[in-house]
Amino acid sequence: MLGACGGNARTRRSSEVVRPSFSADSAYRYIQTQLDFGPRVPETEAHDSCVAWLTEMFSRFGAEVTVEEGVTKDYAGENLRVRNIIAHIATDSSQKTILLCAHYDSRPWCDEDEEAAWYQPIPAANDGASGVAVLLEVARQLQQSKANGERLKACVDIVLFDCEDLGTPRFLDELDRQDTWCLGSQLWSKDASRRGKYTWGILLDMIGAPGATFYREYYSEQMAQGYVEKVWRAAADLGYGSMFRNERGGAIVDDHYYVGSALQIPILDIIHTDGQTGTFPWWWHTQNDDLQQIDRATLQAVGEVVMSQL
Ligand SMILES: [Zn+2]
Repeated sequence: MLGACGGNARTRRSSEVVRPSFSADSAYRYIQTQLDFGPRVPETEAHDSCVAWLTEMFSRFGAEVTVEEGVTKDYAGENLRVRNIIAHIATDSSQKTILLCAHYDSRPWCDEDEEAAWYQPIPAANDGASGVAVLLEVARQLQQSKANGERLKACVDIVLFDCEDLGTPRFLDELDRQDTWCLGSQLWSKDASRRGKYTWGILLDMIGAPGATFYREYYSEQMAQGYVEKVWRAAADLGYGSMFRNERGGAIVDDHYYVGSALQIPILDIIHTDGQTGTFPWWWHTQNDDLQQIDRATLQAVGEVVMSQL
């Protein structure tokens, strides 16, 4: 029966593992497109263009797209326009909905770089574009799966948060507060009664670098231990155990922390740290977070792991 399956059907590589369909090339191109807009810093033209493109792409992949607009305060107390993008993918399995999220904004400051770069925005290939790109490719794959008549386990809401990375710049340390980060997800979660009932969720953040390591992040284990075990086991089964380390990681207040606390749902964060202490990679919040720090092999692994849960 060689060649009987279409390119997007689930294919068997070994006798045991069903390897989900996912194209790292496609995800890579979605990162490139985002970088081509320029840094997607809120209230810039690049950010506007990116919102329009994401809306168009998710619609093209058959999702119902909503852009929720609101206003919040930034670290300096100034009004800030926030646009969270929600793409709902309906399936036959309407009794369950899985939440998949990432942030799409870019940080306006390279405050972990040398001083001359502090006021430059980060290219945000990993810290922004990578999670978005994998979720776009997931949406495309789900459209294909539905077209092939495959049965999916749940409906999927993909939520792209704005203003995650506008936390107080390090060179203004005296103003620093933890809640100056994750502004889009804080705003979105505040309205918990308006949100759908999610069975569980996954957040992707910085998931494209060569040699990435993903530990079992502390709050993820607090909120979603069973799902952490399930996802890390799926990664090991797919042969990605050296990337998805089956060890406790640091505690990271990321979008999942606010979403999980407000909506009272299990949600976990797949996020790149070096070692178990939660240290971010050397290129984090520097000008080096560009396409050089993207490896298709990492995108492929994360994409397959996410697809294996849908
Ligand atoms: Zn960041």
